[in-house]
Amino acid sequence: MRLSKIKLSGFKSFVDPTTIPLSSQRVGIVGPNGCGKSNTIDAVRWVMGESSAKYLRGESMEDVIFNGSSARKPVGQASVELVFDNSDGTLGGAYAQYSEISVKRVASRDGQSQYYLNGTRCRRRDITDIFLGTGLGPRSYAIIEQGMISRLIEAKPEELRVYIEEAAGISKYKERRRETENR
Ligand code: ATP
Ligand code: MG
Repeated sequence: MRLSKIKLSGFKSFVDPTTIPLSSQRVGIVGPNGCGKSNTIDAVRWVMGESSAKYLRGESMEDVIFNGSSARKPVGQASVELVFDNSDGTLGGAYAQYSEISVKRVASRDGQSQYYLNGTRCRRRDITDIFLGTGLGPRSYAIIEQGMISRLIEAKPEELRVYIEEAAGISKYKERRRETENR
């Protein structure tokens, strides 16, 4: 599985519809301070369902929506779509048959978010669910941001266990068991 495109519109500084192609296994994003490098990473975490403004470097969830500049008015909604190349079938279950998987989140200023999987409306947990065990999630280790290494080093054993279980692919089964037990 490989992230092949990030499409943003109205998200933070990306007011106009923008597609960032990630055409190989290794991609570097370079540019002057404030050009939006970190915003693209926030976008990935946001689509995966991040619900804490602090983790998206903002004060409220509305801060992810373009809030205007000297030349442009604020907009009413933010949307981010991630396109994954799944030709190796990493994303399994009902989705294993798709060589391309799109995950999208759209939010408006009233705080409501809509999520989509391959264009079909879904719940936030449907998205977290298909990525469980891949290392990609709003707080998972596929994204290593500033301060995360020291958080890992200082983590309590039970916190560390969450990362190890995700890496070992156990988290998916634990989640299924939890669901069954709650039924
Ligand atoms: P650095 O090299 O300093 O880390 P960067 O490329 O990572 O810079 P970002 O943090 O991605 O920069 O982008 C910061 C820019 O995004 C700032 O100019 C900020 O004003 C703008 N920005 C953040 N949120 C919004 C928003 N909601 N509306 C408009 N602009 C925003
Ligand atoms: Mg930055």
